[in-house]
Amino acid sequence: MTTILHPLHEPLSNLLSESHAPNWRGALCAEPGRNPEDWQPFPSQDYTQARQVCERCPLQTACLVYGRRNKLPGVWGGQRLG
Ligand code: SF4
Repeated sequence: MTTILHPLHEPLSNLLSESHAPNWRGALCAEPGRNPEDWQPFPSQDYTQARQVCERCPLQTACLVYGRRNKLPGVWGGQRLG
């Protein structure tokens, strides 16, 4: 079984070893001070703040592809998935 990882919830060194995962270096959501819950919104919860961070992130496209490919819940590449 594959462990679901997100740059907010795991050390980047762990993410880098995942097959098919982008290189998470530069992930804006992993910057100090970010609230991980912003990327795991409840269905009715607004996720504008996370989306706006993702829109500036250099990994946006790779992150969205990764989230879709692995059918991951939460905000990936600025879109709510799952
Ligand atoms: S696109 Fe968003 S969720 Fe993905 S790494 Fe960047 S900031 Fe994080």
